[in-house]
Amino acid sequence: MLALSDEDRAIKDRARAFVDDELIPHEIEAEMNDGRLSDEIVARQKARVHELGFQAMNMPKELGGAGLTTFQQTLVSEQIGRASNALGWVLTTPAGWLPAVATEHQLETWVKPTIQGERHECYAITEEGAGSDTEAIEATARSDGEGYVLNGEKWHVTSFNLADHIFFQAKLTEGPHAGEPGLFIVDKDTPGVRHVRSPRYSHSYADEHAIVAFEDVRVPAENLVGEEGDGMRYTYEWFRYERLMIAARCCGAAERLIDEATAFARDRVAFGSPIRDYQAIQFMLADSLTELWAARLMTYATAREIDGGADLKVQHAHCSMAKLYASEMANRVADRAVQIFGGRGYMRDNVAERFFRELRVDRIWEGTSEIQRVIVADQLFKRGVWLAEAT
Ligand SMILES: Cc1cc2nc3c(=O)[nH]c(=O)nc-3n(C[C@H](O)[C@H](O)[C@H](O)COP(=O)(O)OP(=O)(O)OC[C@H]3O[C@@H](n4cnc5c(N)ncnc54)[C@H](O)[C@@H]3O)c2cc1C
Repeated sequence: MLALSDEDRAIKDRARAFVDDELIPHEIEAEMNDGRLSDEIVARQKARVHELGFQAMNMPKELGGAGLTTFQQTLVSEQIGRASNALGWVLTTPAGWLPAVATEHQLETWVKPTIQGERHECYAITEEGAGSDTEAIEATARSDGEGYVLNGEKWHVTSFNLADHIFFQAKLTEGPHAGEPGLFIVDKDTPGVRHVRSPRYSHSYADEHAIVAFEDVRVPAENLVGEEGDGMRYTYEWFRYERLMIAARCCGAAERLIDEATAFARDRVAFGSPIRDYQAIQFMLADSLTELWAARLMTYATAREIDGGADLKVQHAHCSMAKLYASEMANRVADRAVQIFGGRGYMRDNVAERFFRELRVDRIWEGTSEIQRVIVADQLFKRGVWLAEAT
């Protein structure tokens, strides 16, 4: 399962060197500056992403993307996860499901420029009263004959400050699909799009999570993604992809934490001995390494299964399992790493302190741990323990 082809290993090594050379050295600077780095550093990182062939790694080569397999993407994401402060987000992955349903106009206007890194998107699905329960979405899309008028307020819109267009999810108000979801692409400068505020969160990321109001925002019919009523289908595809990549990033974060905590335990002397000599410390590291191994196997196996064209429902369940297990594993590892570092582990210039805060959200976004368990249990009851029985 862990055997890598020469090509896969080369990709992994390139990604690892990029993280070590271009991202990790800037973590503390980012942490002390609300996640932000100078334009010059970010420009250099972006240029390097292009040179290394990681720009839009999930997008097809025909459209200008890197066209990596899902497995190769997990290898890259795992390495990206080793850096704190979301510095790895300099490597962007546009909406991978979009080319299959995009019109020629959408391909030229949004998809291809995003792949080139010239445009940047964000997602506005969640609302104050609708998070896990997307059925409760109150945002509306009213057809006015020539296009749609959008209304609603969205929460936690990640990257709104850096994006120039928004995927907006709403309920259609009339026609044969009234009450069903529709997904729209909205340019950020469209009249009626209003930034309400950007609340502060536990982590220090350059990407803000804004509350955004959509007030009688008029978009042409060509901004509808796919067909009316299709909205959630794309959102589920995005969830599957993101859940797997979160699992991979959590494996990378856990590896970094174990590495750093192990190095510290070798050097730190207490009561006349390096603390690595104490079983209490050894056991925390041993449990962490064991759980990382399990999470990595799940993540790699799921990626390979996707590349092999496994049944979509099985993919969905396995992505949920990988995200659930890897995110909870990484949180346990971060907690232990803080403990091993002692007082230093509570200082913001310590990697364990940063990951202790940052990894918490991986149990919440793209579906909470509880929602992943709901999905897994549903598949268990429908398909049995091998997820093999037909529904
Ligand atoms: C930093 C950050 C960035 C985000 N970025 C984006 C973004 O870019 N775009 C976007 O649209 N959204 C984004 N989100 C929203 C995120 O996806 C939601 O916060 C998440 O889905 C949970 O929804 P909620 O916060 O409304 O919690 P709720 O759904 O209200 O859940 C509250 C609690 O109830 C539990 N719960 C709910 N239903 C059940 C159930 N059926 N069974 C058991 N327990 C249940 C949950 O697990 C949770 O513990 C982001 C959130 C954060 C924190």
